[in-house]
Amino acid sequence: MHALTFAGKETIEYNRVADPVLVQPTDAIVKITMAGICGSDLHVYHGRESGLDPGTVMGHEFVGAVEETGAEVKKFKKGARVLSPFTTSCGECYYCLIGLTCRCEKGKLFGWVEHGHGLQGAQASYIRVPMADTTLLPLSSDIDEKKGLLSGDVFSTGYFCADNAGIKPGNVYAVIGCGPVGLMTIIAAKHLGAEVLFAIDTIPERLAKAKQFGAIPLNASLTDVKEQILSSTRGRGADAVMEVVGSEQTLKLAIDILRPGGTISSVGVHTAKYFAFSPGEAYDKNLIYKSGRCPAHYYAEKLLMEELPQRYAIEDIITHTFPLADGARAYDVFDRKLDNCIKAVLVT
Ligand code: NAD
Ligand code: ZN
Ligand code: ZN
Repeated sequence: MHALTFAGKETIEYNRVADPVLVQPTDAIVKITMAGICGSDLHVYHGRESGLDPGTVMGHEFVGAVEETGAEVKKFKKGARVLSPFTTSCGECYYCLIGLTCRCEKGKLFGWVEHGHGLQGAQASYIRVPMADTTLLPLSSDIDEKKGLLSGDVFSTGYFCADNAGIKPGNVYAVIGCGPVGLMTIIAAKHLGAEVLFAIDTIPERLAKAKQFGAIPLNASLTDVKEQILSSTRGRGADAVMEVVGSEQTLKLAIDILRPGGTISSVGVHTAKYFAFSPGEAYDKNLIYKSGRCPAHYYAEKLLMEELPQRYAIEDIITHTFPLADGARAYDVFDRKLDNCIKAVLVT
């Protein structure tokens, strides 16, 4: 089959690789129809995450149809339309049972192979899905592929971020970062009842989308964001801040615009060694801090059950569609945000 493979810093190749095969009786092979490129893929692309084996098939966002199943797969038959969270999960360990599926004791991330161990990714024609019954989710015929794809990662992550912020109607909230995940956070926060919701970024097109989804856009290169939020809250600060970037600067901004006793809900992937604020500042703010990888299986199942992908125009964030063979160009366009790219998907 063909796939996009990691070939070193900022080098993605469209290559012929071996077709995946069933290894365990609980595995399924899925024929991929659409795969996403995610902000998290860029950490690998830029070589910020060391250790990924060259030749690894990239990507962890996909929808498709079941092609083949192992003898112990009960829930899915050949031809079933499916979506997938970005990690596998067993459905029976302590973490799966408490809904923290991202920390499943047997769970693995798609598109991550180190020293020959791990799972190949989704930017390919086919993918092997371990623990298929408890990893995959059925994609009903009334949900299009784009909505399904986003539900397995960015929509789930946005909802997780808003959920952790403890949104209550009537309060004042802020989302820092209006990339794909930040925009999904805005949709989720509005759904959960946020009325006054500030959205902070520096890219006008992304701020325009944030406005379309019901937020009040603040351009951090043109406005003093801290001043704006403090003056809108009689000097108190926001009740919760959702940090959806993953930088030192945005974490610092988050605490600066937060009221005492408020919550920072952070889903940005942070690589700094230390917090951008001191334990003393956290103490003085009576800070509640929530963060981490999204338990995407748990949230995707919830979102589908509540029919939220159908209800909101989440697919509006997908600005670019490329054939898989154009993957290297797709990475470049997505990475450099060329042609106002917000989210790019690949079709096989
Ligand atoms: P993205 O890079 O497309 O979006 C980040 C946005 O933040 C951009 O629009 C950028 O302009 C803006 N930004 C950057 N610095 C800023 C600043 N100082 N002030 C204001 N705005 C600023 O990324 P994305 O795909 O939306 O993902 C966001 C983060 O979430 C990434 O770190 C990604 O790895 C992470 N992520 C986490 C999970 C999880 O499970 N926790 C899942 C998916 C993605
Ligand atoms: Zn992702
Ligand atoms: Zn588990």
